Amino acid sequence: MKSLKEYILDAEAKKVAIGHFNISNLEALWGIFNAAKKLNVPVIIGASEGERDFIGVQQVAALVKSIREEYDYPIFLNADHTYSFERVKEVIDAGYDAVIYDGAKGGIEDNIKVTKQCVDYAREYTKRTGHEVLVEAELGYIGQSSKILDELPEGVTTSGEGLTTPEQAKEFVERTGVDLFAPAVGNIHGMMRVGHDPRLDIPRVKKIREAAGVPLVLHGGSGTVDEDFVDAIKAGISIVHINTEIRVAFRKGLELSLQEHPDEIAPYKYLKDAMKAVEEVTGKRLALFNHD
Ligand SMILES: [Zn+2]
Repeated sequence: MKSLKEYILDAEAKKVAIGHFNISNLEALWGIFNAAKKLNVPVIIGASEGERDFIGVQQVAALVKSIREEYDYPIFLNADHTYSFERVKEVIDAGYDAVIYDGAKGGIEDNIKVTKQCVDYAREYTKRTGHEVLVEAELGYIGQSSKILDELPEGVTTSGEGLTTPEQAKEFVERTGVDLFAPAVGNIHGMMRVGHDPRLDIPRVKKIREAAGVPLVLHGGSGTVDEDFVDAIKAGISIVHINTEIRVAFRKGLELSLQEHPDEIAPYKYLKDAMKAVEEVTGKRLALFNHD
């Protein structure tokens, strides 16, 4: 099987993107895998610090690996937003395929220093074990939580100043050596309750991709309009993150199931609709991201 890096480069050459979907449990993992398998496209499972603490840092790695091996299928695991070197090291040692160090809250020099430390550790691990692990960094603050928003998160701007510049991207990648770069181009974590999310700055995506010299990742995909996804992917986005939409689908699927079967107590029965709801949303997003 090709490596995650090879799948990302393939996606970029084909002007499509790999979907990255977060999970908190096994049901969502099956829903996402089933959707990807139907379309026969590679997929990345995301687990934030909170999500992987809930499933188990080692256990989520074992689950994803078990599906990859049983089905001989390109399903990969990324440690989403990780806020310290210690926690980056933990997931690299656990065999994750990629990790995001998020140093956005600190100063830029600190961010660069710790990101570089993560990259060095990842390279050393790859050399030692033969298992390639990619390191991603995000530059520019786009909010933090995958939730329904009534207003833009504090400190987030979605145009002009506050967005990542091509110069910043170039310098950051050169100084840290990251494999993947996530810019702020009008995207936000979470999704707006009413209407759609702010529109993306597509020309900026193109300039940042050229300047950064590494594949780009779009965070906060939930709530983004379809047209912006298509244009952003053509402009240089190779991975798109979706979390909030998955959470909403799981919750709604579960609520409906409980309403329809108020006396059902078998988890494997009433959780099935939640799993199906995740599969449906994932399938729609994957079809869009892999549209040529
Ligand atoms: Zn993110």
